[in-house]
Amino acid sequence: MTDTAHVVSGRKLRDKLLVQAAEVSASLRGRNLPPRLAVVLVGENPASLVYVQSKMKAAESCGIDSTLLTLPAQTDQATLNTTIEQLNTDPSVNGILLQLPLPSHLDRDTALDAISPAKDVDGLTPTNVGLLELKRDGLKPCTPLGIMRILESIGTKLKGIDAVMIGRSDLVGRPMASLLAQEEATVTMCHRYTKDIGLYLKSADLVIVAAGSPELVKGKQLKPGATVIDVGITPVTDDEGKRRILGDCAFDSCKDVAAYITPVPGGVGPMTVASLMTNTLDATCRQHGLPLPEWKIR
Ligand code: NAD
Repeated sequence: MTDTAHVVSGRKLRDKLLVQAAEVSASLRGRNLPPRLAVVLVGENPASLVYVQSKMKAAESCGIDSTLLTLPAQTDQATLNTTIEQLNTDPSVNGILLQLPLPSHLDRDTALDAISPAKDVDGLTPTNVGLLELKRDGLKPCTPLGIMRILESIGTKLKGIDAVMIGRSDLVGRPMASLLAQEEATVTMCHRYTKDIGLYLKSADLVIVAAGSPELVKGKQLKPGATVIDVGITPVTDDEGKRRILGDCAFDSCKDVAAYITPVPGGVGPMTVASLMTNTLDATCRQHGLPLPEWKIR
């Protein structure tokens, strides 16, 4: 057993990246190329509204202009796609973020397919997914990119380690597993139909959990000294009526066994937002034929 784990602050790392992002934005502005992020929100999902506000606040803090396009919940697919296509051709817009989930009558894939890959700062279009799989330059999804940066910040060696990814969504689990495998980790993907997750956890050097299942992973399941990255966000109301957010790991018990652990909130979430900013600036630079910024995390 190790002593209690080092708790990795995603907020501190975010702030480090936002300082660099502000410098890149200022230099783009100096060339009369102000970076702009357009956020498309359909309907009034309260959680989505909170996420959108935090992304726009981060953009403002680092000198990226942002525009919010709010479409009514009953918007049809053609109108949504036309809105996206207008942003594709608007030269003042460098990044397009379609806030998910969409209302159930809209098809997510059809809408994502409409986003120009060059402006796809969430890295979810088929082109960027393909580029990631091929380990070629493109825009990577913000949460896996943020997690790779967290791992870099704590000096995690990925080559040859055993990693377990719980969750296999397009947004987090699948791209995350690809990035780890590209760095020569041996990656096991678990999901809701995995027969015995504990079997894989007990030998895992790195555990990343993105299941949306509160406190799914317990300390006693972990290999001592493991690195634990908790992506889960589940809002709950406790017995006293207080609202709080639970992660996918039982933090206290995991902290006693792991060497490194990310908290919820304050771990992966802030790094997702920071990576959206760096993606927007990368996209802006690429669109203007400028070299990509170097993002320093250590
Ligand atoms: P999703 O619902 O698309 O996918 C969940 C995955 O987890 C599925 O593959 C499912 O098979 C698996 N799963 C669910 N319950 C499980 C269980 N009990 N055991 C094993 N596997 C299980 O979710 P998502 O979009 O990847 O998000 C996952 C979680 O991460 C959610 O809580 C979400 O809010 C959170 N999230 C956080 C951030 C962030 O920035 N912190 C970003 C994206 C998602």
